Amino acid sequence: MSKVIKINLKKNLRRDILRGHPWVYQNALGPLPKVNKATLCQVLDHKNQFLAWGYYDPHNPIAIRILSTETTKSFNEKDIFNKFKKALSIRKTVISPTTNGFRLFNGEGDILPGLICDIYADVAVVQFDGQGPSEFWETYDVATWLTENTNCKTVINKSRNQQPKIISGSLTGEDVEFLENDVKFVANIIKGQKTGFFLDQRENRNYLKQISRNKTVLNLFSYTGGFSIYAGMGGASKVTSVDVSQGALDYADKSWAANNLAPTAHQSVCADVFDYLKQANEKWDYIMVDPPSMASSEKQKQSAMNKYVEAFSIAAKNVNKNGSVFFSSCSSHISFNDFFEVIEESLSKARRTGQILRVSGQGPDHPYPHVFPEFRYLKFVHVQL
Ligand code: SAH
Repeated sequence: MSKVIKINLKKNLRRDILRGHPWVYQNALGPLPKVNKATLCQVLDHKNQFLAWGYYDPHNPIAIRILSTETTKSFNEKDIFNKFKKALSIRKTVISPTTNGFRLFNGEGDILPGLICDIYADVAVVQFDGQGPSEFWETYDVATWLTENTNCKTVINKSRNQQPKIISGSLTGEDVEFLENDVKFVANIIKGQKTGFFLDQRENRNYLKQISRNKTVLNLFSYTGGFSIYAGMGGASKVTSVDVSQGALDYADKSWAANNLAPTAHQSVCADVFDYLKQANEKWDYIMVDPPSMASSEKQKQSAMNKYVEAFSIAAKNVNKNGSVFFSSCSSHISFNDFFEVIEESLSKARRTGQILRVSGQGPDHPYPHVFPEFRYLKFVHVQL
């Protein structure tokens, strides 16, 4: 991190940056520096005054990611390790001792822009959010810090468009076993989506567990059965997981068995959710609906919302009288307000009415800057019908 460049802003972003906004777009910058890889920079305002430390990413319209607004002479590894320490100490406070699968670094949410790290027992899976972050973060330094300061023995780099790579330690097979609130999970960290598992739903799953006794539960878009296993642990009488990916469902079955739950109480169905619900001739007490994001850009938002309405409305139709539906979405382009609109429309289409019992989102190991609600992406709503 020896090289430091200075970048002047042509827009007056002093207020936004000092309030904690994590990004500066390229069109706000003065003359662009001539560097071809992500580089540490001092951000100067249009009057040449120091504003922040950040790193400049020549490959991305998000040209600067802010690292610190403290007026210090330098910014170095020590400052970064202090941020790692802070992230770890937050997790020690908010994660229960019966949980060893959690997100340790949540990028911008921990002022570690572009750096994600999920911990699965003694394996850390690191993910850089694009080429610039891959260039800026020193992979080996991150891995060394993790093995020296956490229980991790193995560190894997699993970034988008790259083959997963072992940075430190070793891995036997592709599976990791970990605990969430004392519930066992098996995840495939190599072939699984993202870092292998959706840790952000932990608290919502725990909520489902608390209210599942003797309920029949249908988990739509189940992936590896996160909600299914918790429902089973909470005493659900029957749980059905539906996903198009047989690979994901195999892991739902593995985790179900790892918790010694009755094999007959869980059924995995490899099917398209829409086809499955159209032919379904039974109803459930609880239906969980957690579709994929469906919108990778603002432009796709409306079509994603329409698809959500379609999925949510047919789900609501298949809920028993006095049953509940649980709606979730991980799309950062759909706000909480948009989401409530989707719910209203879905229930109207299904000709059902309901009471909202709970609204929540991502767990506390997925923090976001208070000025940046775009990073508050996860929505979870319990509607009693
Ligand atoms: N609720 C899950 C995460 C869901 S991710 C958890 O808590 O872990 C979304 C899942 O939807 C993926 O596993 C994907 O395979 C599945 N999927 C996407 N489109 C689908 C469809 N039309 N029918 C069934 N599953 C689908």
